[in-house]
Amino acid sequence: MKYPLSFENLINHLKKLPSIGGKSAERLAYHILAMKPEEASEFAQSISTIGSVIHSCKVCNCICEDDLCEICKDLNRDKTLLCVVQSSKDAYVLANVSSFTGYFHVLNGVISIKNGIGPDRLNISSLLERVKQDNVKEVIIATNPNLDGETTALFLAKLLEKQNVSVSRLAYGLPVNGNIDYADEVTLGKALSGRQKI
Ligand SMILES: [Zn+2]
Repeated sequence: MKYPLSFENLINHLKKLPSIGGKSAERLAYHILAMKPEEASEFAQSISTIGSVIHSCKVCNCICEDDLCEICKDLNRDKTLLCVVQSSKDAYVLANVSSFTGYFHVLNGVISIKNGIGPDRLNISSLLERVKQDNVKEVIIATNPNLDGETTALFLAKLLEKQNVSVSRLAYGLPVNGNIDYADEVTLGKALSGRQKI
């Protein structure tokens, strides 16, 4: 037996979300159906307006509602320390690490030969401009530890070589509270080579 068309439509929209299969979409659709009308309307409005309300910070490209994002508005951070990330999500995660006091630059992706993404599609020229203008002393490249992330990090390091700036990469290693016997060989190798004196 088929569901009513409108309910089937809702399920199909929900299935477009990442990690949501048919069963999960069905469960979520029932949940939405059970919402109070005002709650459902607020939910729908939040989805329909998000694209026009959110844009990129004019300094770091992070998502924001004003000209500047919350991180760039924070004047207590260190302008000479810049962390390069591939997405706004990563910037917001790292901004909550209290030991990091610098600012961020969001590339909006990584170089990917497989997906046909070249450096011209990323916010690289604004990064170089910013390093020069703000007299940045250190750039930390925090792209993901995979092939595309590594390619991008090496590409940026090469470009930044010409500027008077120290370039570093996030360390690889074991997760805190993790177990050595659960880690894969590559992670263990990287953890060993990145060992620190105690
Ligand atoms: Zn910003």
